[in-house]
Amino acid sequence: MTTLLFDPPPQVTLPVRGSAALWPVRRIFCVGRNYAAHAAEMGVEVDREAPFYFTKAALALQPSGNTMAYPPGTANFHYEMELVLAIGKPVFHADRTQAAAAIWGCASGLDMTRRDLQLAERARQRPWDLGKDFEGSVVIGPITPAAAIGPIGPQRIHLEVNGETRQEATLDAMIWKADEIVRHLSGYYHLCPGDLIMTGTPAGVGAVLPGDRITGGIAGLDPVSLTIGPPDPGAGGAGRRQDRAP
Ligand code: MN
Repeated sequence: MTTLLFDPPPQVTLPVRGSAALWPVRRIFCVGRNYAAHAAEMGVEVDREAPFYFTKAALALQPSGNTMAYPPGTANFHYEMELVLAIGKPVFHADRTQAAAAIWGCASGLDMTRRDLQLAERARQRPWDLGKDFEGSVVIGPITPAAAIGPIGPQRIHLEVNGETRQEATLDAMIWKADEIVRHLSGYYHLCPGDLIMTGTPAGVGAVLPGDRITGGIAGLDPVSLTIGPPDPGAGGAGRRQDRAP
């Protein structure tokens, strides 16, 4: 038997509506700029030739309903409400029909973003990891099987901060439709059961502060929520590097 030097991380899972079995999370892909109104508010053009992607580690996922510490290194912590696709069968170089059949279910999700870091990275043409892939940066609700959802399009997607609506659209405003995203992404990856795809956010993104409560949902899917707490002071309470003299 193989011996591990230390305990490996636990398998990250999501609940599934109507099932006692959990969904083992594999990879988390994210689509950028999939709603024209959001691209406009970010001051960029939508690329209509092809979607583009970034990724988040599965270990960045935290359960819906959590309270998270305001993350380190940012002064502009943003919410992004998104439809999440859950891949349930292997697909590689899929056509649209095969891509649609690989979508096992859908969920509501939050793509939490350190916007100041993302924009600084974007300006320097560097990867977005510091802005996008950090601890607690993904919240995804229970997965609802595709058969219980019906065609994706007319459903309302919405997000509130402290009960006040900040994002509101319908899923048919997505530039790249669910099956198109899976078809395109499957040309670059062997997509596998457990993979998740966050499909981009509508307009209305904005900052949250300690004490704020985010709620969001998509018609027909379970909602998500997240409460922002004070920053984690770190070991000893005063260990932040930027607080130390050089
Ligand atoms: Mn996003």
